Amino acid sequence: MSSPTSEQLFARALQLIPGGVNSPVRAFRSVGGTPFFTKAARGATLTTADGRELIDFVCTWGPAIHGHNHPRIKAAIAAALENGTSFGTPNPYEVEMAELIVKFFPSIQKVRMCNSGTEATMSAIRLARGFTKRDKIIKFAGCYHGHSDSLLIKAGSGALTHGNPDSAGVPASFAQETIVLPYNDTAAIDAAFAANPGKIACIILEPYIGNVGFIKPDAGYLQHVRKATAQHGALLIFDEVMTGFRLARGGVQELESRQIFASESAGWANRPDEPRSTNGSSGGFALPTNEALHPAVTPDLTCLGKIIGGGLPVGAFGGRAEIMDYLAPLGPVYQAGTLSGNPLAMAAGIAGLKLIEELSPYAKLDTLGRQICAAALTAAKTKGIPLQAPQVGSMFSLFFTPTPVRDMASALTSDAKLYGRFFHACLAGGIYLPPSAYESWFLSTAHEGKAIDQACTVITQAIISL
Ligand SMILES: *Cc1c(COP(=O)(O)O)cnc(C)c1O
Repeated sequence: MSSPTSEQLFARALQLIPGGVNSPVRAFRSVGGTPFFTKAARGATLTTADGRELIDFVCTWGPAIHGHNHPRIKAAIAAALENGTSFGTPNPYEVEMAELIVKFFPSIQKVRMCNSGTEATMSAIRLARGFTKRDKIIKFAGCYHGHSDSLLIKAGSGALTHGNPDSAGVPASFAQETIVLPYNDTAAIDAAFAANPGKIACIILEPYIGNVGFIKPDAGYLQHVRKATAQHGALLIFDEVMTGFRLARGGVQELESRQIFASESAGWANRPDEPRSTNGSSGGFALPTNEALHPAVTPDLTCLGKIIGGGLPVGAFGGRAEIMDYLAPLGPVYQAGTLSGNPLAMAAGIAGLKLIEELSPYAKLDTLGRQICAAALTAAKTKGIPLQAPQVGSMFSLFFTPTPVRDMASALTSDAKLYGRFFHACLAGGIYLPPSAYESWFLSTAHEGKAIDQACTVITQAIISL
């Protein structure tokens, strides 16, 4: 009997699963058409239920930095499986994972594992509220922090508009505790603190945004956020669920510190056209101690997920011990999880982090990212289509707009219909891109040589065909 096609599977899924999917963006609503089903994945390639092979630029939305089904991660899961799938007691893997996270993130002294990025941000915010004894939080339009109530809120109309829920089912009274500001706008932050003296528990942000397409902060912006939070007694939470271990081992907080402390790479993220130092030290960079880090870029709490699970469900949040000790069983802030620190997820994550340590893949990934963006920009110029291609390392996105993208409003000027046509032209050519104009693309160390060359060719042809 032949195995079911994507079309047959989707028809069955639609009867049983809302929209046929277990996470909305998978449904292809914003690019049109129906989703393919994946039956296997290896390296940079997805194999669909219909037997097509596609080069994957979604990488399971970030986690697959080593490509799909990496033999070392697979072997680590298999070895852990021999010992059991869940114990409900502390286990040795959790300790090793915590040691790795603390080693690579100097701002993290203690860390708690959970099961998703959503749990990590939700719990970090509860902790910030418990620690500061304040209720309000600031988030930025276009930053996604998972789907918990206080965080599912985008922009209101003005800079200081109190949140309106993005989703039905979020009480307006909850949303009122969330202040939504435009990203990259320092005056809006100052105004929000001035208007809510002693009330703001924390600012949470994606330090480089990956969830409305890819957006970098203006020079000095993160430093301003740090200064303002410290001044007003609010905690700073970096949501590095996506960027942690993806842009550098120590996430954006390491990149930003390097710009200040490492003369050889100073400022590269703000001058994307200049070649980065590729002296082989990327990822092996010796970090200053926590105390020596520039306070402008050291968050109080950091949320992690995605890569640290090696493809299994995971989240984590950590930071200064003084704050983390507010968590139960030491402190009054409750947080728990039946499967938290799950041995299989920890084993997969540990194997992935050790591979990162061995490979120091960031300089190479940056070269590949530049290659794709350069091909797209050249084709767009030839064709006369306005295109923005912000990129750092293995995260980037293509915005079809003449407007430089620095916040959600400018991201939304990009032509989503045109992106939909571009997406389908690439898919026809064997290249799978994020099925939305407002998502970051991801690369893995498995995207080399042929995969990148083929992608550049297909992307060029797709842009020319628009
Ligand atoms: C993916 C993501 C989350 C949510 O993680 P889940 O594991 O999907 O719950 C939170 N924050 C950021 C920045 C993310 O990219």
